[in-house]
Amino acid sequence: MPATPSAETPAAAVPAAAAAVPAAAAAVQAAAAAVPAAAAGIEMRACVLREPGRPVAVERVHLDPPGPGEVLVRVAAAGVCHSDVHLADGRLGEGRWPMVLGHEGAGVVQAAGARVTGVAPGDHVVFCMVAPCGACRACRSGRPTLCEPAGTRSVAGRLRDGSSRLRGADGATLQHGLTVACFAEYAVVDGAAAIPIPDDLPLWQAALLGCGVVTGIGAVTAAGVRIGERVAVIGCGGVGLQVIAGARLAGAATIIAVDRRPEKLAAALRRGATHALDAGHGDAATEIVTMTGGGVDHAFEVVGTAGTIRAAWDALRPGGTAVVVGLAPAGVEVSLPAIEFLSEKSIIGSYYGSADPRESFPGLIELVRSGRLQLADVVSDLIELEDIDAAFQRLRRGQGSRSVVIIDPALAGAGNETRHA
Ligand SMILES: [Zn+2]
Ligand SMILES: [Zn+2]
Repeated sequence: MPATPSAETPAAAVPAAAAAVPAAAAAVQAAAAAVPAAAAGIEMRACVLREPGRPVAVERVHLDPPGPGEVLVRVAAAGVCHSDVHLADGRLGEGRWPMVLGHEGAGVVQAAGARVTGVAPGDHVVFCMVAPCGACRACRSGRPTLCEPAGTRSVAGRLRDGSSRLRGADGATLQHGLTVACFAEYAVVDGAAAIPIPDDLPLWQAALLGCGVVTGIGAVTAAGVRIGERVAVIGCGGVGLQVIAGARLAGAATIIAVDRRPEKLAAALRRGATHALDAGHGDAATEIVTMTGGGVDHAFEVVGTAGTIRAAWDALRPGGTAVVVGLAPAGVEVSLPAIEFLSEKSIIGSYYGSADPRESFPGLIELVRSGRLQLADVVSDLIELEDIDAAFQRLRRGQGSRSVVIIDPALAGAGNETRHA
């Protein structure tokens, strides 16, 4: 991530920013004072997946206090990601329910368990859905997003010690969605899963950093997009729009946005795409090859279907690379014309930005603060916890880009506005 050279680190900027925003600081203190009987746990509202195929609903849920190495966070806002829909539809495998959903969010730390370092009560934080162990083979080889224990915990919906802090009204254990579970008033997460950010970044926008932004922009960095290159982005939803922003920041000369929805193509053009291609008419890959006189250097697939992954491959020039960012449901297979490996095309996957999020976030935040990366413009809907199932329906229809759940309006900094695109 090309961080802006600056002597001012986000940590150093916090006191000044906090002083400049007295209302936000007061809201933090009020929220801290309002934590009900934290020692005994918290009764709260949370969006629960009971069974795939059924609407998700808000329930009263019990949250135990944070254990050693864990923090309790008052959730301010949370983004609705397509992965939440895949989980709700049971498309990521068996046994992943009952679960409190939500993995892209931001809030304010209320309490920290023993041995927590680097984050303290009062800190504004973004959730990170991979809390790397630091010791496994993947971590040791510099690929923390592939951390093996973190992956196992994510699939099991458990925290680092293998247990859950969440119980339903019937007393039965609930899983922590992707170890975060932030479609809730509070979340207990691993200390390494709460990354401090400066106080002056509105939390309803900061929430997006935790999945969409780090995934989309990280994929561009992982692909090594260079100044003057040609890029196609297939799928212009919440993550695809971040890939486009990343490609623009990386200096791509041509950025072809591909989607079926005209409003998403319009958003893509606003975010830096140079061309918009309606995937509903004709063969997008053939058109891309024609438009570019032979194909693009990098084709990003941000949908997660066999057809769009194949289209990314077909849109490449010889020597080009297809980058699969979209999350395909379990069981999806892709076939490729093997003879084309002779033209040195390649295809790679990118998960959660393919880098250490703790290292990526400061640079991304500097880009936001300097105005070179917009966060608010990908948000199509500001909603409440009760509206999450409707947001899932919009995602299933391919409608809108990002819905953000405003859980604590004062902390989130989004006022009372509610938009529906
Ligand atoms: Zn996500
Ligand atoms: Zn690890």
